[in-house]
Amino acid sequence: SAMRDERINKTKTVCTYCGVGCSFEIWTKGREILKVEPHAEAPANGISTCVKGKFGWEFVNSEERLTKPLIREGDAFREAEWDEALSLIAHKFGEIKNKYGPDAFGFISSSKCTNEEAYLMQKLGRGIIGTNNIDNCSRYCQTPATLGLFRTVGHGGDSGGIKDIQNSDLVIGVGTNTSESHPVLATRIKRAHKLKGQKLIVADLRKHEMAERADLFVRPAPGSDLVWLSAVAKYIIDQGWADDDFIQNRVNGYGNYVESLAPFTLEFAEQETGISKEELIRIAEMIHEAKTVCVLWAMGVTQHSAGSDTSTAISNLMLITGNYGKPGAGTYPLRGHNNVQGASDFGSMPNRLPGYQHIEEERVRQNFEHGWGVKLPEKPGLNNHEMVEGMHSGTLKAMYLKGEDMGIVDSNINHVHAGFEKLDFFVVQDIFLSRTAQFADVVLPASPSLEKEGTFTNTERRIQRLYQVLEPLGESKPDWQIIQEVANAVGANWDYKHPSDIMEEAAQLTPLFAGVTYERLEGFKSLQWPVAEDGTDTPNLFMEDFPFPDGKAIVFPLQWTKPVHFGEEYDIHVNNGRLLEHFHEGNLTYKAKGITSKTPSVFLEVSPELAAERGLKNGTLVRLTSPYGNVKVKCHITDRVQGKEVYLPMNDNGDAAINLLTSSYADKDTDTPAYKETMAKMEILQSE
Ligand code: SF4
Repeated sequence: SAMRDERINKTKTVCTYCGVGCSFEIWTKGREILKVEPHAEAPANGISTCVKGKFGWEFVNSEERLTKPLIREGDAFREAEWDEALSLIAHKFGEIKNKYGPDAFGFISSSKCTNEEAYLMQKLGRGIIGTNNIDNCSRYCQTPATLGLFRTVGHGGDSGGIKDIQNSDLVIGVGTNTSESHPVLATRIKRAHKLKGQKLIVADLRKHEMAERADLFVRPAPGSDLVWLSAVAKYIIDQGWADDDFIQNRVNGYGNYVESLAPFTLEFAEQETGISKEELIRIAEMIHEAKTVCVLWAMGVTQHSAGSDTSTAISNLMLITGNYGKPGAGTYPLRGHNNVQGASDFGSMPNRLPGYQHIEEERVRQNFEHGWGVKLPEKPGLNNHEMVEGMHSGTLKAMYLKGEDMGIVDSNINHVHAGFEKLDFFVVQDIFLSRTAQFADVVLPASPSLEKEGTFTNTERRIQRLYQVLEPLGESKPDWQIIQEVANAVGANWDYKHPSDIMEEAAQLTPLFAGVTYERLEGFKSLQWPVAEDGTDTPNLFMEDFPFPDGKAIVFPLQWTKPVHFGEEYDIHVNNGRLLEHFHEGNLTYKAKGITSKTPSVFLEVSPELAAERGLKNGTLVRLTSPYGNVKVKCHITDRVQGKEVYLPMNDNGDAAINLLTSSYADKDTDTPAYKETMAKMEILQSE
């Protein structure tokens, strides 16, 4: 009513951008967002927020929002009613399932969506259609970190909380541009560094803000982190600085691990990484001198052909120095999206049910079969990389994808687009007509976080509630409602009235979330998993034991193989990542004027050396060509990069989209694309 529109409402929500998980109150009048008000009780951020959380909300009222279902007709879409769209899906899904069986389907969840929605998507895929072909975008970023932690310490999440990082004596950042990618978390480190004498080591290709601030900054050759991490571990052991008590009491596999380190001498590491022996020794000394050490890492580590092994090497180093099981110590894979942690936690993975329970374990399957009243497929399904190959080979016929622009964020997108074209039937659910949605047969209009209830889990395993701020725009609906309607259209009989019903069911079937209830998450309250049935949560993991049968962690032996090289003519290494102002492919932030006015387009960072060699100036337009495609972009000369390393922010969805260049090479253990192993040749198109 008009009356209601005049009122100012204040509603608590959780930021929809990065994995820090800032929470705050949003002030609205009608659909107008008046301001974002931080709150001292907010567990992850207190009164801090960054530019995206504060000003990045305009997209919810964008003219480009989808407000009705769309159905393809030839080369165009026409608007349709929900009933028509749902019956078309029911008809096509039925036909394809009859003809090709359940494994001809692929399901993609979204790390922008809620835990409850990740849970429902995998329940639909597994329980109603009957396939484990279900994945989410952590395959593009953090799956290698999760595997590295599963191998060594048994839980795939940050060891402690964001506030704990402040209490560490030494923070090591590897392949993380923390101040731009996780701004509020970086602020805490900067403060501890300045006021509490915390030490900071940064290993990265690029001299970003955290590197400038570091006590020691090293620039390893691309893809060589495993080597220096292992060499530092070996040196520590050789000096007698390993934590023998900790190893004795809490670690298995030490003998094999020590043997595996033999090749990683300081000489070898210096030669392969370019980090000098003196610097390697200095890293070892700084770890030895610190009582508590934590390592933060992100895509600079994971998006490589040895992404899982390098993540494992980080965890190994923390284990042999006793840096687990005490506050201020441990491993922190920094999750990118707001709910990348939760999308996997709640089972949108091809081999794991909610709470990382193995699909192959009969006892686990039976529990879910009983709970859901269905029979579950036993074999692990395809991950999203394998789904693309399935489209090309003709085994994958239908796909239901929500909230992910796979056609721009996956690597080698020319190849992905060709795969989409081969699908018999493609359903995309999103808030915008994304690049991916343009390939769909049916597009379903979803509601963003401000228009629904649910929970997100941030990088520190913290589950937080979001409350509905606005009504769904037009005929758009919250994703959980849409998934329920699709499921019921294809034969299910679900009756979830509210996301809390979904959480209640998930908690009953998942020991990790046993005590999670909406009451315990009211307002700014939160829970860090594992959560026991009585509601006790776990701010710090591994305090008593590791979740393995004998309670001990495992040090995991590793070998190193050199990263992918495209061939001699591709002489430029194209690094890629984020900018502070924009988020990923820019779908949301380019629709916020407060942000685009500052950073309207991307640019290519080029080193002064390369600029001199090739005659490049600020503004020179160049073309980069890899074996997979090409981009056109203007140069920006800066000493943030060196030599033949260039840096292309990933925030473009047009001519400068990084994934026109990237390949289909992937981490050998998880299929996460090796985005950071991209090579190109450069030509000048136009000088300024
Ligand atoms: Fe949002 Fe991350 Fe910024 Fe916090 S730090 S406001 S969660 S983008």
